[in-house]
Amino acid sequence: MVQFNDVPVVKQNGYIEVYTAFHNDISPVKVDLVFGTFRKEDGGLYLLPVVKKAENMVVNDTSNHDYLSPIGIEGFTKSASKLLLGDIEKQWKDGTIFGVQSIGGAGALKIGAEFLSRHMNCTTAYYPDPSYEIHGTVFSFCGFQNTIQYRYLSRENKSIDFEGLCEDISNAPFHSVVLLHACGHNPTGLDLTKEQWRTVAEIMKERKLIPFFDMAYQGMASGDIEEDAWAIRYFYSEGFEFLSAQSFSKMFTMYNERVGNLVVVLKSGYNTHSLKVHFERIISSSYSNPPNHGARTVFKILSNPELYDEWLSSFKSMVYRIIEIRKAFRKALEEESAPGKWNHITDQKGMFILLGFTDSQVEYLRHFHHIYIVNCGRINVTGLNTKNISYVAKAINDTLRK
Ligand code: PLP
Repeated sequence: MVQFNDVPVVKQNGYIEVYTAFHNDISPVKVDLVFGTFRKEDGGLYLLPVVKKAENMVVNDTSNHDYLSPIGIEGFTKSASKLLLGDIEKQWKDGTIFGVQSIGGAGALKIGAEFLSRHMNCTTAYYPDPSYEIHGTVFSFCGFQNTIQYRYLSRENKSIDFEGLCEDISNAPFHSVVLLHACGHNPTGLDLTKEQWRTVAEIMKERKLIPFFDMAYQGMASGDIEEDAWAIRYFYSEGFEFLSAQSFSKMFTMYNERVGNLVVVLKSGYNTHSLKVHFERIISSSYSNPPNHGARTVFKILSNPELYDEWLSSFKSMVYRIIEIRKAFRKALEEESAPGKWNHITDQKGMFILLGFTDSQVEYLRHFHHIYIVNCGRINVTGLNTKNISYVAKAINDTLRK
């Protein structure tokens, strides 16, 4: 008989382990560069004022807490899908585009992967090396027999290994699923150019590969909502059928409300109703139906022109802060004469910088300088501020000279 004691012993996953260690560290100089949450100059967590305003409206409008449908609030999934794909009025009506509300972006990845495995008989999934920590696990836990990383980062040059990427996906078996970061690639901050996206689309068409986009940072890479959705809209214009996970955690500074959407894009709407039923079943058997508050808040902002404009403008100042910190951090490292080139810090986009440190360098930073980063050497840009930036630059210089 199997006993609980027989279950293989595993270590805590990377982020959680580092985060716990950070909280247990009593040093007054400790610096948290771990989780991708947007920090203010004083180190505190930022909450968009428009979110607070919309939340109050939602609370006032709420007269009961009835269950939602398993696939969520249609107004929310429609306005979220519109943010991703532009004008979808006709497609929504004819059923070629629909959305499924999810528990954050991670939940959208999970229900999408489960659908592909269970109902499309997909067995092979490709995702970038490196990638958001859970991608491989999500696919394998959902029954994919082969989860394979395609080359993405050239660690030597701190740039995209585009040749490697193309070679790997060109060798993918037909009907493999390919996970693509739509923008603000986590953890490298390196995105494909439009020309490169066109090439990837060509290969994927030829190999009949199924795109599964992950969009967690729309607008946070370029500062422009439309520009950051370019790749997805291009694939759409090229006639692909695909899935896209959407996360609203970062874009709305609402991490614990778990707001997400899975966008399903089809060539024909003839079996849309039945596809929705399949998603309903996946969701009913997992958590019955999604929560209300966060999705209603995002819906309120996306559907009210005044709130939407306010969101866009404060959101732009968040992106401005990211760009300014990147410049200051590069300058601080160059002034320290820290070994290596640091242009990648201002070349990369979005919330993360990939320092590309070895595990022992990451350990050294933690033990000798109380600076906490995840193992691949990724840092949350907004964890830096005018008070700690020079301390961190000095510590990095010291670490690289050991
Ligand atoms: N996808 C990527 C690339 C991410 O970086 C994240 C979160 O960090 C997610 C998905 C998950 O988003 P959420 O927190 O909404 O589940």
